[in-house]
Amino acid sequence: MEVNTKNFRGLSESACADVKLRAVLDHATRHFQHNRQASMDALPHREEHFARARAARFSALAHLPDLLEELERNATAAGTTVHWAADAEQARSIVVDIAKAANAKVIVKGKSMITEEIGLNPALEAMGAEVWETDLGEFIVQLAGEPPSHIIAPALHKSREDVVKLFAEKLGLHGEAIPELTMLARRALREKFLSADMGITGVNMAVAKTGSVVLVENEGNIRMSTTCPPVHVAVMSIEKVVADFDAVADVLRVLPRSTTGQRMSSYVSVLTGPRLEGETDGARETHLVILDNGRSRVLADPELRETLACVRCGACLNVCPVYQTIGGHAYGWIYPGPIGALLSTLLLPAGQTRDLPYGCTLCGACHRTCPLSINHPKALLALRARAAGGRGTLAGRTHSLLARHPLAYRLAVGAARAVDPQLEKLPRLISLAGGSGVAQFVASRRPPELKKSFSARRRAAQANKERS
Ligand code: SF4
Repeated sequence: MEVNTKNFRGLSESACADVKLRAVLDHATRHFQHNRQASMDALPHREEHFARARAARFSALAHLPDLLEELERNATAAGTTVHWAADAEQARSIVVDIAKAANAKVIVKGKSMITEEIGLNPALEAMGAEVWETDLGEFIVQLAGEPPSHIIAPALHKSREDVVKLFAEKLGLHGEAIPELTMLARRALREKFLSADMGITGVNMAVAKTGSVVLVENEGNIRMSTTCPPVHVAVMSIEKVVADFDAVADVLRVLPRSTTGQRMSSYVSVLTGPRLEGETDGARETHLVILDNGRSRVLADPELRETLACVRCGACLNVCPVYQTIGGHAYGWIYPGPIGALLSTLLLPAGQTRDLPYGCTLCGACHRTCPLSINHPKALLALRARAAGGRGTLAGRTHSLLARHPLAYRLAVGAARAVDPQLEKLPRLISLAGGSGVAQFVASRRPPELKKSFSARRRAAQANKERS
């Protein structure tokens, strides 16, 4: 996907004006929030489960180099070929070489943000392979030629009517109701699974102790992608490793609940090496590509390291007022919402992401919702401070100074209140001075009226009460 994060402001403005998009986002995010809340309410001792999941992820980050080496050793012992990729280009070329060696003409894929991150599909198509996304949402956005707009619901921005039209135009398939459309996609994909030469997936967790990869899904397409084709390639970023199956269980107790509100996802696959003699299914050749792509740098940063704990449940997107308003595409890359603003800023070159840390109201809903308590606002503030050279903006520094000196604060607010009623005259004065363009600009940006302060209103209310 083309990186368009530089245009975050412009894309956000267009998205804000898209009434249809707002309606779809409102419906979808409310639905996710409702299901998640109901599921969490029904989970006894949920704070304890959150703490265990957090401990599993943070412990893995604390021991990452050792766990990755252990994973390599045990995956290799189980028969999987392990590849290390420093960046997206290297990861693409590793997977393309595996596909060439397997003479892969048809490739099926399970939904994976990491293969979106490295732009894998165009590289495979360039070598002449047919690449099929098999997750229903990914299938829809692939047909539409669009990137995903949500971490777990890639076609969240599409209405049912959009999908009806898309299937008719691109596949010549006609359906109306959602179950009918799902069946049409299923039939179209079934023959691809059976004829595929290679399956590619991401990894939810990789278990250092056994060299296994764990894949969580609801549609069964990942299980088909990993068991039907003779070759399976799993692509993971370095932070996906966990120590053992206790850690997997700790994360799985909260991941599906936080993602879709399910107690457990419909399919949890644990794959350890290729099919053994006498086994009836599974790939005959398995590969694990372990990608860094800037994450070692993040890991070494104590202030921002916790971003890597994310398990991609998507819950922070659904509660974010910015995501609810602009959707995923406005973020300009594959990672949207609060965690997306963080990941994109950390993984992409600095010049491309200047505005992303500011795409946040600092309301804290993401932090409160995250099952791992990742503090997105704090991290985004740290990124803002770094972007401003550690000194903050002039307005921020002035406010900080005043906030630390109550008397100066009162004097400044009093002065602002005294000037405020006169501001209406400002455009006229500027235009008299010959600056009609500037006057127009100022007139169009009239700040909201300064209301009486809370303490003044309280004093007045108190006085009224005493009088009556
Ligand atoms: S940051 Fe937390 S809430 Fe957001 S996707 Fe990651 S784990 Fe889920």
